[in-house]
Amino acid sequence: MIDEKLLEVGFIFHGHKCPAMPLGIRAGSAALKKLEVERASNKELFCLMETGPAHAMMCFGDGVQTATGCTFGKGNIINKNYTKNAFTLINMKNKKAVRVALQPEFQERKKGIEPKDVSPELLNPMIENIKKAPDEMLFNISEIFDIDFQPPKGTFEWYNCEECGEFIFANGVKIKQGKKICIPCSKK
Ligand SMILES: [Zn+2]
Ligand SMILES: [Zn+2]
Repeated sequence: MIDEKLLEVGFIFHGHKCPAMPLGIRAGSAALKKLEVERASNKELFCLMETGPAHAMMCFGDGVQTATGCTFGKGNIINKNYTKNAFTLINMKNKKAVRVALQPEFQERKKGIEPKDVSPELLNPMIENIKKAPDEMLFNISEIFDIDFQPPKGTFEWYNCEECGEFIFANGVKIKQGKKICIPCSKK
């Protein structure tokens, strides 16, 4: 089953109705359940997303972010760009992880259709099916495993770019001719 409130929030965040976003919510929720953890409010969890640019099912990633609370804004998700509808969710407290991947048979049926182009007559029953289908039918869910993972370090140290004046954090600073500048300015 799916949490209707999450689904609503997910569709608002995502922008359109499609089957892959709710699949992402189901996948994210399945991962939380397997790890026996709650949605991340801070950085208790970290997500290694495997979707990638320019494939029809990337919408999946927005569902995973909605369900797990691993978001690009909080910096507790990175995308490995493997172009797979799969991800690993890590409990940062004990470094236990689970990998969830969409069942290949499930992907097969959707081949060749952009999710946003599916007509509502087809789309609504599809979404209903995704809401009700058992986890095992939709996903391959791994056993829990140990993972040696260090998240990218955050910093509070910041500078003004000596070219454009915009502020940048220390890990984005480039040094050019002795000046501290931002990455776009360093490419000019
Ligand atoms: Zn979508
Ligand atoms: Zn600059």
